[in-house]
This record gives sequence, C-alpha cells and structure tokens, in this order.
Amino acid sequence: MKNLFDLTGKVAIVVGGSRGLGRGMAVGLANAGATVIIASRGFEALQTAAEEISKETGGLCVPMQLDVTSLPAIQDFVTRVDEKFGRIDILINSAGINIRKSALDFEEEDWDRVTDTQLKYVFFMDQTVGNYMVEHGIKGRIINIGSLSSMIGLKNMVAYCASKGGIVQLTKALANEWAQYGICVNAIGPGYYFTEMTKPLLSDPEVMRKYQEKIPMGRLGLPEDLASTAVYLACDASGYVTGQIIYVDGGWLIN
Ligand code: NAP
Repeated sequence: MKNLFDLTGKVAIVVGGSRGLGRGMAVGLANAGATVIIASRGFEALQTAAEEISKETGGLCVPMQLDVTSLPAIQDFVTRVDEKFGRIDILINSAGINIRKSALDFEEEDWDRVTDTQLKYVFFMDQTVGNYMVEHGIKGRIINIGSLSSMIGLKNMVAYCASKGGIVQLTKALANEWAQYGICVNAIGPGYYFTEMTKPLLSDPEVMRKYQEKIPMGRLGLPEDLASTAVYLACDASGYVTGQIIYVDGGWLIN
C-alpha cells in the first residue's frame, strides 16, 4: 500500500526556515523525503541550517535568500526555485517577527513591520505560489503559521495578534477559492516554543513557571512537535483537509 505520508519527489519551500519553528518543520519535510528550500534574509544562518538539515536527514536542503516583505523579491524567488527545481508542491510560511509594546504606545512603523511580515506578504507569497501551482496543474499544499493569538488576545502584542487572527481568515478564504484546483490551504497554531522570538519572554524564570503551569502537558513545545503536523498537512494523507487551523499547543487553549 502507498505510504500517504511519503514526500519523496516533492519540492517544498519553508520561508523562515533558517531557525526556530521553520527549521523544525524543514527537518520534518526532509525526513519525509521532500527536497526542501529554506528561505530567510540572513544568508550565513541559512547556509549553516541547510547544511545541518541535509546532514541530519540525509535529504537535500537548499538555502535561498529572501526578504519576504517585497512582492518583486517573492516573484524573483519563485522564478529561481522553478529554474532550479522545476516544481513547487509545498509552501510553509514561517517568517515572523514580534514587537512587544503596549497598544497605547504602538507606532505606525512597528505595526507595518509586524503585519507586513506576518500577514500582507504571507498573502503575496501564497498568491505567487498559488498561481504557480494552478499554472502547472500541481495539487499543492500551502501551510500558514498562526499562533495562540489567532484565537486569543495576548497583551502588549497588538499587531502580532491582529496579523495572526488574519492568518485564520486568509487561510479559509484561499482554501475556499483554491479547492477547485486541488490545492489545500491550512494553518498551524503553535503554542509556546523556545526560539529567538520568544527568548526575551521565556528567559524570565517566573514567566516560564507560569506558562508551564498553564499548559496541560506541562512543558513548552519543541520544534519537532510541529514537524509531524507540518508533514501531515503537506502530504497525500490530508488531501481532504482544507481551511483548517491545527493548534499544536500542549493543550493551552483548552482552558
Ligand atoms: P524565529 O526563531 O525568530 O525565526 C523567524 C524566522 O523568520 C527566521 O528564519 C528569520 O530569519 C525569518 N524571517 C524574519 N523576517 C523575515 C523576512 N522579512 N523575510 C524572510 N524571512 C524572515 O521565530 P519562530 O519562533 O521560529 O517563529 C516562526 C513562526 O512561528 C512565526 O510566524 C511566529 O509568529 C510563529 N509562532 C512562534 C511561536 C513560538 O512560541 N516561538 C508561537 C506561535 C507562533 P531572518 O531574520 O534571517 O530573516
């Protein structure tokens, strides 16, 4: 019987794949057999991550630089991927930034930086790859990254919450439009994971203690906790799942 979780022969892009959650999901896809292109701004970190992922998984992970907050850069990137690999089956949008500040003091420039990276250009990345998939008749998989704040309002991160709330609706709207092409669009909502992004918050032992108490499973997530969900949403096994957000949060949102 065919292994529905096998990604051999598939080409995947992970934006924000140089570290943190994106890197963890890139490892999952490479372990499942996909060729993985990781993309982010800092090339050195990207190159090191790609070498490590290839070595760790025995697969092929390739670094390609991209600042996702520019439509011409996205279009050029997709052209480069096509020239090099000839297809795109899977897209994961894991680029992210957060600016922690009270809503009363939040500045326009901060709002734009966060929502550009985490919502506006997620759409344009989805659109550019969506057009590519439709043009090439590829029944692809697109995975956007939400958060607990896709569902709840967390303090001192108003633009982050707004962008992650938007990810849910963006995902549903695209899923509805692109189901006719066999393209599934879903989202993953991670709970709390220790990464560069959350380090300033989670390095405080008191915050860490409070969060661990709040998580029914009693621990933060690990990048590999997300990898299996990413592989599921990227593979043939999830071909009838679209427009969903799956929270991988150790139970945080239960109560
Ligand atoms: P991270 O460790 O800081 O990684 C962020 C990644 O995004 C890096 O590869 C970074 O590389 C890349 N990036 C940032 N801006 C970019 C841009 N303009 N163009 C291309 N790449 C860009 O953060 P993380 O914790 O893994 O977060 C990944 C995603 O998960 C984000 O969407 C975040 O909101 C979400 N999330 C995280 C958590 C958590 O607990 N960590 C929880 C819920 C949701 P460069 O800086 O080199 O570009």
